[in-house]
Amino acid sequence: MNQEELFKNIISHSKEYGFIFQSSEIYDGLSAVYDYGQMGAELKKNLREFWWKSMVQMHQNIVGIDSAIFMHPTTWKASGHVDAFNDPLIDNKDSKKRYRADVLIEDHIAKILAKADKEVEKAAKKFGETFDEALYRQTNGRVVEYTSKAAEIENRFKTALENNQLEEVRNIIIDCEIVCPISGTKNWTEVRQFNLMFSTQMGSVSEDAGTIYLRPETAQGIFVNFLNVQKTGRMKIPFGIAQTGKAFRNEIVARQFIFRMREFEQMEMQFFVRPGTEAQWYTYWKTTRMKWHQALGFGENKYKFHDHLKLAHYAKDACDIEFEFPFGFKELEGIHSRSDFDLKQHEIHSGKKLQYFDPELNESYVPYVVETSIGLDRLFLAVMSQAYREEKLEDGSSRVVLGLPFALAPIKVAILPLVNKDGLPEKAEELVNLLKFDYNVSTEAKDAIGKRYRRMDAIGTPYCITVDYETLETNTVTLRNRDTMAQERVKVENLKSILAGELSIATLLEKC
Ligand code: ATP
Repeated sequence: MNQEELFKNIISHSKEYGFIFQSSEIYDGLSAVYDYGQMGAELKKNLREFWWKSMVQMHQNIVGIDSAIFMHPTTWKASGHVDAFNDPLIDNKDSKKRYRADVLIEDHIAKILAKADKEVEKAAKKFGETFDEALYRQTNGRVVEYTSKAAEIENRFKTALENNQLEEVRNIIIDCEIVCPISGTKNWTEVRQFNLMFSTQMGSVSEDAGTIYLRPETAQGIFVNFLNVQKTGRMKIPFGIAQTGKAFRNEIVARQFIFRMREFEQMEMQFFVRPGTEAQWYTYWKTTRMKWHQALGFGENKYKFHDHLKLAHYAKDACDIEFEFPFGFKELEGIHSRSDFDLKQHEIHSGKKLQYFDPELNESYVPYVVETSIGLDRLFLAVMSQAYREEKLEDGSSRVVLGLPFALAPIKVAILPLVNKDGLPEKAEELVNLLKFDYNVSTEAKDAIGKRYRRMDAIGTPYCITVDYETLETNTVTLRNRDTMAQERVKVENLKSILAGELSIATLLEKC
């Protein structure tokens, strides 16, 4: 199965098992908007909980808030979103398709670099153990050519972006001979800027109704509450404020399923620090966030840092944590050292002081901010694409397994009466009542037991408990592990303690 097939299978699996549906599907859907079904909502909730606990519960100096989606319109003037939250757009005149110019160029660069990687891979195979990759990258003619070509385009692009030269961005697309993936032609329009914020009217009478925006990020709700939280929570710098919530962007290129949506959920944390210490905290959060991702157990090579090409004028440092999605390495999370830019902007536009009195220094200042920002839906897609696998079994049959970390599974335990009679369903119900206080449990009596196991494998349920005739005699059940498919007979009275260690979010938090 190639990556494209895998991605298609993940999308259809997500629908078939109630993870993700297209929004308003009966009306043929709404572009780049999705609904989470009964399984998806649980998985999403568990991912959110893993993030929230790792931030708020695991850090004594981080607290969480839940600010409103609607904010005073000046917020977005202060944050720069009204004037500068734009994407450079380009249209192909033949296919009439619209693209983000920066994405076209970045994809082109990635393709060139992939060619260099392929050469290196081939050489590594050829030379075996003696292969010196660093030396090869420096000396092999073709690899050097690809790498310097990519760097050249990258530099040209960076300069064009920094100087807001849209015509030069277009020239790069022309010079690189980038074609529209649909029409295959190079018939491009000019590059234009397009604001990504959704607006609406607040107020009942149209004349006095003001334009407000649906927030394009959750961060501003944290900045404007900085002093409220600091004062009421008696927070001492360094401290963080975390929140999760919906954000809205009128994305131009909204493709790749839930990777880029117009309504999505963010999980952001702003960490307020003493000016001068931001570099150290930036490094701390880079390491901490990478460790958090790796706690999911999908493998170190699935993630990499990508330092930003273009730093905003106020930014000290910025990088993405990229994840290898079925369509390649793409941004999953951003980590940004933002100086005092945001708080200062809000000071200017509100006329209110947003300063912290530092008792150790005996002075007041506007703190610097290091932020971590991750899309919950993108994380969901990353997890689904890693967890989904099709397995051939020893007996020649096959199964689809969602190999989620146990703590994230939508249903933790399925309780299955072997047959739907002779008191077995009643005994299963008894077990549901025993375990439902701790876990999401499900019971199902229909179909052959093997078929029911498969259904539970496909939604990632870690354990199936089978209630059989022996259960009635000895008060024991079989406990089947999703991954090994091994079954062991255990006493009902021991069930709680056996399950306790394996299913809680703590198993993930301990690895962070
Ligand atoms: P991109 O370059 O992919 O548009 P971005 O750099 O604009 O992303 P940020 O503003 O840094 O993204 O937002 C932080 C995080 O929010 C991203 O790392 C991503 O996980 C998530 N995110 C941003 N836009 C979307 C979207 N349209 N759909 C889903 N998730 C998104």
